[in-house]
This record gives sequence, C-alpha cells and structure tokens, in this order.
Amino acid sequence: MADSPMTNNYRTFTIAVLPGDGIGPEVVREAVRAVRAVERALDGVEFRMDEFSVGAGEYLKSGDPLPEETFERIRAYDAILLGAMGLPDVRWPSGVEMTPQLDLRERLDLYCGVRPLTLYHPNDTPLKGYGAGEIDFVIVRESTEGLFSTRTRPFDPDANEATDLMRVTRRGSERLFRSAFEIARKRRGRLALVDKANVLPSMAYFRRIFDAVSADYPDVETERVYVDALSLYLVQRPESFDVLVTENMFGDILSDLAAGLVGGMGMAPSGDLGDRHAVFQPSHGSAPDIAGLGIANPVAALLSAAMMLEWLDHPETRRGAALMKEAVRSTLADPAHRTRDLGGGLSTSEMADLIIGELERLAADAPGDSP
Ligand code: ATP
Repeated sequence: MADSPMTNNYRTFTIAVLPGDGIGPEVVREAVRAVRAVERALDGVEFRMDEFSVGAGEYLKSGDPLPEETFERIRAYDAILLGAMGLPDVRWPSGVEMTPQLDLRERLDLYCGVRPLTLYHPNDTPLKGYGAGEIDFVIVRESTEGLFSTRTRPFDPDANEATDLMRVTRRGSERLFRSAFEIARKRRGRLALVDKANVLPSMAYFRRIFDAVSADYPDVETERVYVDALSLYLVQRPESFDVLVTENMFGDILSDLAAGLVGGMGMAPSGDLGDRHAVFQPSHGSAPDIAGLGIANPVAALLSAAMMLEWLDHPETRRGAALMKEAVRSTLADPAHRTRDLGGGLSTSEMADLIIGELERLAADAPGDSP
C-alpha cells in the first residue's frame, strides 16, 4: 500500500472513486455515503475521496475507456473503489466489450481476486434448509493470467479458427496460493484447489505448484476438486467449503454461481489485491437492464467498501470495516429490508439508508469498540 500523509496525528487515506457505467454510479454513491458515515465514527482517520471517469462512458467522451493520465493519477491513491464498467452497446471493433476493470487488474498486478459469499437470511438462497451464516465461503480468483491472458490479442473474425491461451506461471500461482493459504488461516483453516488437472496440462502444473506451496501451511487442511465437480458440490453442500482458490476464468464463472447461492450479484463483494495496489468493487457488472431505475442492490458495493477499509489495515479502518459488516448483517436480518432483486420493495438509497442508520446506531452504542 502506498504511504499516506500524516498530519497532526490524523491519518488521511486517499481513495480513487471510479463509478463507471450502468448501475456503477448508483451503488458507488451509496458506498461513498457509507464510508463517510464510518469516517464520522472513527477516531483520527479521514478519507480523501476523488472521483475519476473510467469506462464505456469515458470512451464515448474521449475515445479511451481508461485514459493514460487518469491511470497514472489513480495508481498513486491508497485504494481504488470501483462501481461497474462496460455497456453492451459500446464495443471495440472486434466485438468485445470495454473492460477497463480487467486492464486495471493486469496493469496494477492485482493477482488475488477475493470474493466472499455469505448468506444473510434463509429467504435469499434458492437452496432449502440453510440459515443465516450457514453458507459462508471465499473464492480466491487468479486475476492476471489464466484463460484471460490473451484476451486483448487481435483475432481475425474471418479465419477458420480462433485460440485463447491458458497461461499459468510459477510466480503467478505461488503468490496466489500463498495469499489463499493466509486467508484460510484467518478463517476456518480449509482450502480447496479448484482446477481441471485431469485434462489440461496447464492445470496439472497449477496443481503441482499448489501441492508444493501447501507444504508450508501444514495447519491448513487442503483438498483438490475438479471445476465441474465443484459446480455440483457448491449447489449440493456449499457449507462444506471455506476458501476456494482457482484460475481466472473458472473463478469468473464460479463467482456468479456462488452469488446465486446467497441472493444474486447484488450480494457479492470483491477485492482485487496486489502487493502494492488494490481495487474494491461489487462482483456484478453494470446491469444495463436495471440501470437508471434506482433499484440496484447496494449491499455488494457497501461490503466491497468494508473490504477496502479492512485492507487499509489501520486499527480504526479495521474497526470501521467491522462496523459496516455488522450493520449489513443486522439490517439484512429483517427479511423486509430488501431491494427488488431479493423480492423486496426498497430503492437503492432506501436500502443504503437503513444500513447507514444501523451503522450510526452501532457506533453510538459502542464508541471506540468493534461490534
Ligand atoms: P459482467 O460480465 O460485466 O460482470 P454480467 O454480464 O455478469 O456482467 P451483470 O451486470 O452482473 O451481468 O448482471 C447480471 C444480472 O444480475 C442482471 O440481471 C442484473 O440486473 C443483475 N444484477 C447485477 N447487479 C445487481 C445489483 N446490484 N442489484 C440488482 N440486480 C443486479
């Protein structure tokens, strides 16, 4: 993490805010309000938040979804809070969508995509018999190589074939696995490798590296699961998983499946972490089907902001993260507190108002304490 200025015992953290496209600005607005509410409850910490235009909307204005000057500026911030990027009608000539959020992951070397999935109320899952907290696992997705590695390579649409390359490096895999083991250590101590080592040489290589790294973490219980079987087990027995670590494309697909188990994309936060930089964003896209209606679920964006506060790794920001997570948990304990995606009737801002009100109540009840 970059150094921040210290003034009069005050610690100022700088946050680059990238609202992006579609529902991105709608949910980021609420996440910023929640961070401001946290800031009021904390002692000796403040946040400088500056907004930048990145995404399909920026491309329509300037011809570049991530202008170089913007990139240079945002990389100097302590953390980046992002909404969602890309619009179906705004595409490169090749036909693929603009994905500056993927460019950021690659250019800032954010190799570790952390995606926690938690069930907050039995009504939110399509599975029978699960109570709050009984589905609770983290997907750790490699985010700089794998099957996305040749995604920007030009291709000939009139040729007789097109190829994507699954790139797996020792360095990329080792650092990913070490991060996943550290996360598992702080949780229930179980880590599952998700691969396709029975078919793909790149995945057999991935597994060998996992096995070698696992020797350094004898306290973490490991298993190895093929991605197809894992898709079945996630639906049949999600409670049996704690931390899952996987390749980029598998992680992309499994994240959406996993979000479906806890209420949908509006409930799935994420943090893309590197050794120096980090981007926090809801796992969902720009959801053009509901953009502008004021009904997007802000929970994933607020939980992503909580992950950012935790990552900033100051005792007060960690307290702020705990407050935010507890406010989400206790607000969602009432099944009426839901946006439309979860069968409720609240607007984006009404949902955020409830969580922020709860956060303020928790902070007033226990000033200086973590909930
Ligand atoms: P991307 O590939 O850019 O990640 P996607 O194609 O997976 O995006 P999303 O934009 O995430 O698609 O939307 C998938 C579905 O989930 C859509 O029906 C969308 O309306 C819904 N959805 C996504 N985010 C939210 C949210 N915050 N609140 C409510 N519904 C959402």
